[in-house]
Amino acid sequence: MIRSFRSTKGPPILLSVLQQLYRNSQRISQWLFPEHCRSCGAAGAALCSACAGDWPRLPDALCSYCALPLQVNGDCPVCAVEAPPYDHVYTPYVYAEPLSAAILAWKFHQRLDWTLALAQTWAESWGEQPPSRPECLLPAPLHARRLRERGYNQALLLARHWGKRWHIPVRPAALRRCRNTRHQTGLSAAARRENLDAAFSLHGKLPAHVAIVDDVMTTGTTAAQLAELLRQGGVQRIDIWVLARALRETVPTHA
Ligand SMILES: [Zn+2]
Ligand SMILES: [Zn+2]
Repeated sequence: MIRSFRSTKGPPILLSVLQQLYRNSQRISQWLFPEHCRSCGAAGAALCSACAGDWPRLPDALCSYCALPLQVNGDCPVCAVEAPPYDHVYTPYVYAEPLSAAILAWKFHQRLDWTLALAQTWAESWGEQPPSRPECLLPAPLHARRLRERGYNQALLLARHWGKRWHIPVRPAALRRCRNTRHQTGLSAAARRENLDAAFSLHGKLPAHVAIVDDVMTTGTTAAQLAELLRQGGVQRIDIWVLARALRETVPTHA
């Protein structure tokens, strides 16, 4: 790189240096600020392969709708009685330590340096291709007040990363939260439904196949409410992309 600065051919030396700097900006920034594993500090990546390997994975046998672990592939008792309004939940991970600690720090303690580690590790778990091929990604919305308090919508950060990676448009304004619901944490499924009643609105025309992006799926009530709204809006297939699936004993908390 330094050798190329000595070139006397081409444009004036200052322009040449600037062009070279621009072309190498990625490498220079990596050299100045080397990426390091958010968990163990090892140099090289936002999350090293050893730490990524520690993230708890869901078993192979899951509910075909809500990704709840089962003895054999099929539908869980809840989805078997009444199929949810979404088609399929895509996540390889259980919401449990050490992944849950990372998500809590990222979501509730302004640790935005976790965004890349979380989004990239999740994406790489599927290989080259995305888990499904929706025509757009819809981040689960935060109410404007919650957005102001937090400063960012974590679902939008994920959607942007995955959309860019797989060339899928992101539609951040299609779903809006019009009522500032209480935190879902600690509420029963019935209380969650009541809490979310008429909490969302849909804006604009959407394609036939979409994916809702969110950080964690707990009971699936939020996903179901959003999916119901999308169905009413004419969407045919609704996937749910989430970082992790919380099981009954691992409901997220920010306490
Ligand atoms: Zn590590
Ligand atoms: Zn299910």
